[in-house]
Amino acid sequence: MRAFTHIRPHASARGLRAFVLVVCLVILGLEGWRDWHEREQEFARIQSEMKNLAKSLSQHAEDIFNLADAILVDVVDRIETGGATPAVIAAMDGFFTERIQTLQSVKSLTVYGEDGLLLSSSLPGHRYKVNAQEQAFFQHHKNTIDGKLRFGSLIRDPLGSDWVLTVSRRLAKPNGTFAGVVQISIPPRYFANFFGRFDIGSQGTVALLGTDGTLLSRYPYLESAIGVKQAFSAWAESGRVPGFGEYVSPIDGVARFASVQRNHIYPVMVLAAVGQEEALKNWNEEFVFRTVAIVILVILIGTLGWNLAGELRRREAAEAELAVLATTDGLTSLANRRTFDRRLETEWLRAAREKSPVSLLLVDVDQFKAYNDIYGHQAGDSCLQEVARTIAGAARRPADLVARYGGEELVVLLPGVDESGAAVVAEEIRAKVEALTVPHEANAPIGILTVSVGSATRVPSLDRSRMGPKDLITLADAALYRAKQGGRNRVATAQAA
Ligand code: GH3
Ligand code: MG
Ligand code: MG
Repeated sequence: MRAFTHIRPHASARGLRAFVLVVCLVILGLEGWRDWHEREQEFARIQSEMKNLAKSLSQHAEDIFNLADAILVDVVDRIETGGATPAVIAAMDGFFTERIQTLQSVKSLTVYGEDGLLLSSSLPGHRYKVNAQEQAFFQHHKNTIDGKLRFGSLIRDPLGSDWVLTVSRRLAKPNGTFAGVVQISIPPRYFANFFGRFDIGSQGTVALLGTDGTLLSRYPYLESAIGVKQAFSAWAESGRVPGFGEYVSPIDGVARFASVQRNHIYPVMVLAAVGQEEALKNWNEEFVFRTVAIVILVILIGTLGWNLAGELRRREAAEAELAVLATTDGLTSLANRRTFDRRLETEWLRAAREKSPVSLLLVDVDQFKAYNDIYGHQAGDSCLQEVARTIAGAARRPADLVARYGGEELVVLLPGVDESGAAVVAEEIRAKVEALTVPHEANAPIGILTVSVGSATRVPSLDRSRMGPKDLITLADAALYRAKQGGRNRVATAQAA
């Protein structure tokens, strides 16, 4: 079918669908970006909180060791000036007990003589019963002349069997020789209790570690884990301390975010950690809630938009069909009379401006009434369709228009075509219909279907009173009449103006 209208079907529906798709994608994209951003912020918050906690607890541990050392320095000074004889030291039990009893961070203060025997302790009842000869701290001070503090790692307390951290100093005789050791035991439980005062959630943990990763204390306190070397040694060795990261606890299998801070004076590190699940719980809940809401919204928008586009599509299709119906002849699919009239009017004006010719052919089937009478009206219809196809095939330029003028009369508008050009097209039409060789016995003498063509050509003038488009039709009609009079199956041309 030839296009008399210029509607692009479904263009708006397609546009709407694309728009809905873009809106949905933008909503999802923005939401995704926002969630990701908030998660990053949540990480930053957790990291900063854990870092601050680890730092302050590392400082606290340092304070405790400093305090113990201050006591050691004081006691060493007292003994060395008062005379480090076993008898003098033995008499100091009461003083030690008084010194220590208010301090929760110190379990015991003990003095060992040069042979390793316990001489005095803040924990009464151990005199001469304990020998520290085999302990690493005793051997260290015996063999090391400097009087510096020794920070010992975890040992089983010589006065009992529980784990303790030891700090100790050397006792010297006036001549500088070894006189014994003053030692303080710090219970890991103390740190566990202190760490427990901070809110780190039910999955959180705080741990005091040696620089080699040995677990010195931990909240929640777990006796079996004390003294075990933890995987954080890898962090320490890889230079990631101080650092922040995630890990799965080898102790309880909980995945955590942790910050590890190293103390600058003592060989310890503090790890502060929260459970990943717990830390991201709020974010996760909000994420799920928001995602569900957004997905519902997107589905809603998508469905509505899609249905709307479908409706639009149906309407556009209906409109396009109506437009075709309004401009097309139903039987032949050629342009209808109204389309022809409009086109003739515009082409006439254009040609008047451009001073170019307009040609018109009126084509009428010969003896068609008789054809209907002999072969039937339906055969007449299909015959007419075939003639229409044939004529449409002869007027091929984009500007040409073939229309059904009425009944079995067809009209061909040839803008810009002069008289001789029109005659060529007219003859082509006549010859092509004849070449169809459709039997038509009443069309004597030839016996097949033929058409007669009246042709008229004029260069329109802007002055309508002289000549208008209707006059061109009248001229062509007159020419057609002459063709019929002349014996049919021929072309007649209106006289030039
Ligand atoms: P001629 O033109 O050669 O002088 O003779 P004619 O018999 O063709 O005369 P006319 O043009 O006056 O006849 C028109 C006939 O065309 C009348 C009608 O039976 C037939 N006709 C018009 N429109 C249609 C149509 O849509 N279908 C069919 N089957 N026939 C039609
Ligand atoms: Mg007719
Ligand atoms: Mg006729």
